[in-house]
Amino acid sequence: MALGEFELIYQYFSSYGAGAAVQLGVGDDCAVLSVPEGDQLVASVDTMVEGRHFTEAAFPEDVAFRSVAAAASDLAAMGARPLGMTLALTVPDADELWLHAFSEGVGRAVTAFDLPLVGGDTTRGALTISVQVFGAVPAGQALLRSGAGPGDRLCVSGFLGDAAAGLALEQGTSTFELSDIEYLSQRFYRPTPRLTLGQSLLGTATACIDISDGLLADVVHLAQASGVAVSIESSRVPLSPALRRLQNSEQALRWALTGGDDYELCFTLPSAAALPPHCTVIGKIEAGEGVDCDLALGAPPGFDHFA
Ligand code: ADP
Ligand code: MG
Repeated sequence: MALGEFELIYQYFSSYGAGAAVQLGVGDDCAVLSVPEGDQLVASVDTMVEGRHFTEAAFPEDVAFRSVAAAASDLAAMGARPLGMTLALTVPDADELWLHAFSEGVGRAVTAFDLPLVGGDTTRGALTISVQVFGAVPAGQALLRSGAGPGDRLCVSGFLGDAAAGLALEQGTSTFELSDIEYLSQRFYRPTPRLTLGQSLLGTATACIDISDGLLADVVHLAQASGVAVSIESSRVPLSPALRRLQNSEQALRWALTGGDDYELCFTLPSAAALPPHCTVIGKIEAGEGVDCDLALGAPPGFDHFA
């Protein structure tokens, strides 16, 4: 590497570390974060690999933003407040143009999610990005997958299927109205983790999961963890105007039900609880087991790296 490892770190990754919880950021053996009294620390890590989660054609800014957004979405799903993140970056070489663009994307995500970059690791190899996130949640209150009970309503935030449509757009397997292209591609590359919504659900939602593998697949996880049956009404699943404009409405619904990468929240609410803004009731929880959807899609739900 023309650029040394430490120069690279300091040049591109040492300026995003300011945050309320950060006592010490990049530069020492560990970062030091303060966890407010009465809170618990929640932690998660997510990895993206070139050729598997994104292609060589993807812009480095987008790869960076999406990697951080996907990791931050797990904090949202727990109802956690972001404290900070670390970044383990494996790059084939010290390509300064690429690193510059990548670090811009990191910076944008740091600002957007209030998630300071407090440390990491930098090595050489096939392009791989691991983002570990830390958050805080009032002790004992984290939103789990396991709390749903019979009588609860199944809800989702935002619109579903846009990211899968954005991916199909990138892969050239579907065509869209010109005016929808930018929106759908942004929904794939620049997802919005629902951090504020997640925190607002604390004490209200009985269970929560973020939709990363596809609605049906993630609802199966929630149903299994909670030991309940879930029924989904496909006609209630919220589709964006862009997906509603699609000629092939079955394809749109298939994306919404089985496409991954939306990073919306799926949660359960007791019948008396108010529905938050921009959220939709799509089904209900009953005693029993399994996930039932009125539409038989004949497609394997979700994505399994080892299936
Ligand atoms: P160590 O050898 O003690 O693990 P490193 O030499 O890997 O430390 O890293 C030096 C400092 O730079 C550490 O504070 C580490 O957290 C930080 N760091 C390394 N890579 C990154 C990165 N990609 N992004 C942010 N911080 C990083
Ligand atoms: Mg190291």
